[in-house]
Amino acid sequence: MIKFWIFGVLLIKELLIPHQIETQELDFPLLKEKGIRLSIKRLDQVHPLASGNKFFKLKYNLIEAQRLGESVLLTFGGAYSNHIFAVAAAAKKLGFASIGVIRGEEHQRLNPTLSFAASSGMHLHYINRTDYRRKNDEEIIQSLEKEFGDFYLIPEGGTNELAIQGTKEILNESTYEFSHIATSIGTGGTFAGLLDSIAPHQKLLGFSALKGDFIFDEMTNLFSKFNIKHSWEYQIFNQFHFGGYGKTNRELIDFIRWFYDQFQIPLDQVYTGKMMFGIIELIRKDHFPKGSHLLAIHTGGLQGIAGYNQKYGTSLPL
Ligand SMILES: *Cc1c(COP(=O)(O)O)cnc(C)c1O
Repeated sequence: MIKFWIFGVLLIKELLIPHQIETQELDFPLLKEKGIRLSIKRLDQVHPLASGNKFFKLKYNLIEAQRLGESVLLTFGGAYSNHIFAVAAAAKKLGFASIGVIRGEEHQRLNPTLSFAASSGMHLHYINRTDYRRKNDEEIIQSLEKEFGDFYLIPEGGTNELAIQGTKEILNESTYEFSHIATSIGTGGTFAGLLDSIAPHQKLLGFSALKGDFIFDEMTNLFSKFNIKHSWEYQIFNQFHFGGYGKTNRELIDFIRWFYDQFQIPLDQVYTGKMMFGIIELIRKDHFPKGSHLLAIHTGGLQGIAGYNQKYGTSLPL
């Protein structure tokens, strides 16, 4: 049993070895004009299975599930969720069964995210929006246990203690040279891990993908819940949500196209596109001191573009 367990952990570690993550420096006239440098760390390239920050958020959860001898992973997400996609892929590769509890109704034709999840063997279980809001309640969890038996539960967006442990590995010696580190915020797990791992001379910038002021309290709660030291400097921006989570407009879509034409780097319309728009807007408005060198974390999310293109008839690059 012990031997099997060690073998299992080794297997997971080996399968989860990150690919080379490039950091690319961007070059365009505004940067020269303002005396700012801007680089992007391509977590989207970290792994073909579990891309972006989801790779880091899942890593220790998968190891823990294996250690506990669990054979089924259960998690939650919307119909276009990057997290659902990553869990389905990782489960298949590592030999777990997986259940995706999906917000909303089942559609006749699966979108590309759910179609991938289903073809990876994930069982899709739909719950209505009211129940979905109560997904952390004991009652809902118990009813899922009644239906599916024992499982290892990974919360929505993957944010828990082990996820934060994983996101602490995004930064390392090679990111020490930067003055500012920027990331998109969804549930905030990535931001929390980064805050715990930035260097004293660095400032962390978070760009909320959601509309509303609640994000400030939510992040503070997350810091205390997970014991994140937050003596370092950070700032959260919540004015670049483009109407709310998953909402887009022409300006955002044109920006993502422009960015791709300039740098051949795809951005998604839910998270990284909004963050990058925000960063460039702040540079334009002289938010950063001259000589700053910003590092934007590309948290991935590219799998969601196909579904967006299909739904809106657009042709965003992916
Ligand atoms: C999930 C996700 C985020 C948000 O990460 P949190 O840890 O939930 O804040 C940001 N960007 C992309 C591309 C994501 O898939």
